[in-house]
Amino acid sequence: MLSPLQTGLSVGLGALAGAGLAAGGFAYAAMWPASEIFGWALKAPPRPGELALTFDDGPNPAWTPRLLDILNIHNVRATFFLVGKYAEAEPELTRRIAREGHLLGNHSWSHPNLAIKSAAKVDDELLRTCKTLQDITGQRIKYFRPPFGGRRPRVLRAALELDMTPVLWNAITTDWREPSADRIAERLMRRIDHLERLYWATNIVLHDGGHLKLGANREPSVQAAGQILAKYKHTHRFVTVDAWDPTVT
Ligand SMILES: [Zn+2]
Repeated sequence: MLSPLQTGLSVGLGALAGAGLAAGGFAYAAMWPASEIFGWALKAPPRPGELALTFDDGPNPAWTPRLLDILNIHNVRATFFLVGKYAEAEPELTRRIAREGHLLGNHSWSHPNLAIKSAAKVDDELLRTCKTLQDITGQRIKYFRPPFGGRRPRVLRAALELDMTPVLWNAITTDWREPSADRIAERLMRRIDHLERLYWATNIVLHDGGHLKLGANREPSVQAAGQILAKYKHTHRFVTVDAWDPTVT
């Protein structure tokens, strides 16, 4: 039985599929986070003063513990989109993230670009990650972020069928290949301040892990998160993305 949300989305996607998108348009729409053509995904609401720190590609035994320490110092909860196979390799660290009150999300099992994978592969990547995270933490996983932001109707439908809300972002920089924490923080702060002037909240992506291997060096990203926390914690409210989910009743 489909919920009204699921039914509405399926109808919308069916109409789009029939429209026959050009290949170039398809690639653009599938990869660009501002695009709404393949259905709704949570980014950020018009609530200036609110910030969500979200971390992708962990858990990472090399840097996630330090990040958790920093979040604790500032008494802030964040959202972690975890890679399933890393969580399986690091169950104690995964439990620590959950135990310290952060929100856990699904970032697929092995971080492929799901926009170009078969339906069976997409289902397997999402389901296996949900099951593993739930087995480790005892929590149901309600949020999904597609690797590389890659999505198409089948990917969004797979997430909805598992009762997960797709989540994108509205603030990102190349933190995974930028060696300077100052530059990462400065770019994101400029974006936060810009969105604030437009009366938007900011959904910030940083990476505490690397999708190519477990144990990536994420010191610049973790330090940049610390700078953002120090700058905004007295003037802004840090939330986890469930605070912005209109499907939560
Ligand atoms: Zn990722």
